[in-house]
Amino acid sequence: MLENMNEKCAVVGIFGHPEASKLAYFSLHALQHRGQEAAGISSADGKKLHTIKDRGLVTSVFDEKKLDTLKGENAIGHTRYSTAGDDSILDAQPVFARYDLGEMAIVHNGNLTNAQEVRDVLIQKGAIFQTFMDTENLIHLIAKSEQEHLVERIIDAVKRIEGAFSLVFLSRTKMFAMRDRFGFRPLSLGRLPNGGYVVASETCAFDLIGAKYIRDVEPGELLIFEEDKAPQSIKVFEATPKHCIFEYVYFARPDSSIYGQSVYQMRKNMGVELSKIKPVDADIVIPVPDGGVPSAIGYSQGSGIPYEMGIMRNHYVGRTFIEPTQEMRDLKVKMKLSPMVNIIKGKSVIVVDDSIVRGTTSRRIVRMLKDAGAREVHMRISSPPTTDPCFYGVDTPDKDKLIAANMSIDEICAFIEADSLAYLNEEALLRSVNENGEDKYCTACFTGKYIV
Ligand code: SF4
Repeated sequence: MLENMNEKCAVVGIFGHPEASKLAYFSLHALQHRGQEAAGISSADGKKLHTIKDRGLVTSVFDEKKLDTLKGENAIGHTRYSTAGDDSILDAQPVFARYDLGEMAIVHNGNLTNAQEVRDVLIQKGAIFQTFMDTENLIHLIAKSEQEHLVERIIDAVKRIEGAFSLVFLSRTKMFAMRDRFGFRPLSLGRLPNGGYVVASETCAFDLIGAKYIRDVEPGELLIFEEDKAPQSIKVFEATPKHCIFEYVYFARPDSSIYGQSVYQMRKNMGVELSKIKPVDADIVIPVPDGGVPSAIGYSQGSGIPYEMGIMRNHYVGRTFIEPTQEMRDLKVKMKLSPMVNIIKGKSVIVVDDSIVRGTTSRRIVRMLKDAGAREVHMRISSPPTTDPCFYGVDTPDKDKLIAANMSIDEICAFIEADSLAYLNEEALLRSVNENGEDKYCTACFTGKYIV
């Protein structure tokens, strides 16, 4: 699957390191896959906050000179994916504000489901908003709270919002990390080699900066980081875990551990499970890179059919500003993915991908493999049919654009022109990621069972 469902953001927080903004920069670099439209870092030097944010990749927004101006031992950062029409620099994060207690910056991964309601009330009370971001609601809620201390104001504010949020707040001297009661979006806590702390959306950020994973920030937990103290934990909400299962299917990097388990291993488990559904006698198993790679390895191990790299991915394709004619769209996929003709020609091929959203990309891949001489193409998908949009921080097309919401599996198979098609079912997906059999995942985009 390519470019049809997008994680909206990554967040990071560094506390107690002399080069906090540089560590935030490297962490964001590791988390770039979660958002490529804008990046930003705020640092705190004890007296004031410094913020730089802009549109573009982490490496293009920051250079050494800019990072040198982000002084202080504490820093938070954000990378962002934006939907059409809201990619202005104003909508980049961190969101910074001055208020009666001083200065504050916030980064947010997720989506607030009552954002408009809260905003309407705030506007009626005289608040003036600068952006379309639901994160700005939090700034106003904190600024208007009647509580005396920032920590009490944060608790007051998060009790008024609903939906998915993994948040990191920075004040002049403290940092706070908070996860909603369901823990929709991931957030992990780690220890820096110098004794400081890091929180990040994924543990692949820890590996890059030499940090050690301690544990996840618990659903409903607020962590307070203060100089010379171990992080203090406050249980703001009773935890009711409903982690986004799509992090395992597609979003997270395979070298990360999410919700305490290896993403790579979970994807391989999905491939093994998939190999048991509608088995087919084929010559080779190939992945749609990069997302389908671990599941295709699992499929090969589960079925005994040899694994091959049948499609190469070009990693250097950025946006193409070409007219979106049908012919040009096909070319766009070919620019990204090219078939290995010598591997595919004359073979019956099982091609493993992580999901089908609109179906058009899958059809182009099947056509590309057949054009390269594949005798048969059997499409296998390591997740259940995507039938419903996400309201918890993932950008999905509307329901009428989701092919599985509008066609049966046989109809989808005909549409993508494959010789056969099979998906992982919900039970097998849950088995792949849930050794203890707990019901702790959100599966709403496969089931329509929304939690909030
Ligand atoms: S609806 Fe799907 S993508 Fe959204 S949080 Fe739930 S599992 Fe994840």
